[in-house]
Amino acid sequence: MNKAAAPKVSFVSLGCPKALVDSERIITRLRAEGYELARKHDGADLVIVNTCGFLDSAKQESLGAIGEAMAENGKVIVTGCMGAEPEAIEKAYPGVLSITGPQQYESVLDAVHRAIPPLHDPHLDLVPPQGIRLTPRHYAYLKISEGCNNRCTFCIIPKLRGDLVSRTAADVLREAEKLVAAGVKELMVISQDTSAYGADLKYADSPWKDRSVRAKFVDLARELGDLGVWIRLQYVYPYPHVDDVIELMTDGKVLPYLDIPFQHANPEVLKRMKRPAAQDKTLARIKSWRDACPDLTLRSTFIVGFPGETDSEFADLLDWLDEAQIDRAGCFKYEPVAGATANALGNPVAEEIKTQRWNALMARQRKISTQRLKRKVGTRQQVIVDEVGPTVTKGRSQGDAPQIDGSVYLSSRRTLRVGEVVTAKIERSDDYDLHGTVAGF
Ligand code: SF4
Repeated sequence: MNKAAAPKVSFVSLGCPKALVDSERIITRLRAEGYELARKHDGADLVIVNTCGFLDSAKQESLGAIGEAMAENGKVIVTGCMGAEPEAIEKAYPGVLSITGPQQYESVLDAVHRAIPPLHDPHLDLVPPQGIRLTPRHYAYLKISEGCNNRCTFCIIPKLRGDLVSRTAADVLREAEKLVAAGVKELMVISQDTSAYGADLKYADSPWKDRSVRAKFVDLARELGDLGVWIRLQYVYPYPHVDDVIELMTDGKVLPYLDIPFQHANPEVLKRMKRPAAQDKTLARIKSWRDACPDLTLRSTFIVGFPGETDSEFADLLDWLDEAQIDRAGCFKYEPVAGATANALGNPVAEEIKTQRWNALMARQRKISTQRLKRKVGTRQQVIVDEVGPTVTKGRSQGDAPQIDGSVYLSSRRTLRVGEVVTAKIERSDDYDLHGTVAGF
């Protein structure tokens, strides 16, 4: 087969890191079958759009991306979260070739085969054993489960993705080991509810090397910690067993970083949201985690303007932020996503109040984040190098996840390599970023 004749697919990946992992799986399969990736829609044989359907604004973005693909190419396959409710897509773009929901890899591939059959030559189309990744070579997302057993009232992910289905520990570890062998220096452990990992498997053991490993969050984190790369835990809920992971952080096995989507602090709002682990005394937990692991970075997200949120419930959230001193936070205004049970709660909060609260929360948090970053000035931090350019070289400290947190801008007496971990002396900070000089390689 002449490689120039390989069918070309243009791919758009929208949404969260979990959707990105789905995209990587589809692309890995396509490459294994001899398809090539095109840089532009124009000139590709077809376009796949992996959509996000979490918020109405994300749906709008997804519809926009489909529209663009239809205009520039005309042969379009839609998959992902928004594909679980195909009506809106069919109405706007009746010419779309196929629409499937999240994780329906086989259906996506079938649709591609129907539209443009593969021209496979295993000698030309070898796929590296770690698969194709959309993240830079030095970091990767490691998805440990799909779906979610919680039923938060603002969220339709369980409807879209179903109940929790965990991978066995051995399966996750095999993938992690391949990624590390391929040069990955940082693994982001993700799922909808990372701390619930393995509950569906009743935490069953699976054979790994000369031992067996339980499908339990802490056991898995410990094994991953032995791979010798940065391990970052995302989307963790404050269940009591998270305390055991703090121990792994103080031992340097996993990064002292937790991404915990608290969403609110007032107990009544949390009850209306049906949040997991909401009954636990989170301020006391945070304090004990920080006592045990002073370098811990906490990231979180919050929703303002949830149905019925009163001025005093919102004030509780601001007070809680002052006490919790979360390092970094994102904030969303509540959106009545179609299908979310919270919409039936009534008492919607007016849009202008949502905006006022959003501004107030962000201003309060900015002050806290700036203060917390300032404490790092004068310290030495490990930094993983993300970008080496003619004028700017930057990376991330252990407290910064890619894409959502800040950067460390570096000066160095020798040229750095992307993926290298260096020690930097931090000289100054601003609202989100640190600046420093490399003091050790
Ligand atoms: S934990 Fe709640 S917000 Fe997260 S996916 Fe599950 S139901 Fe949705």
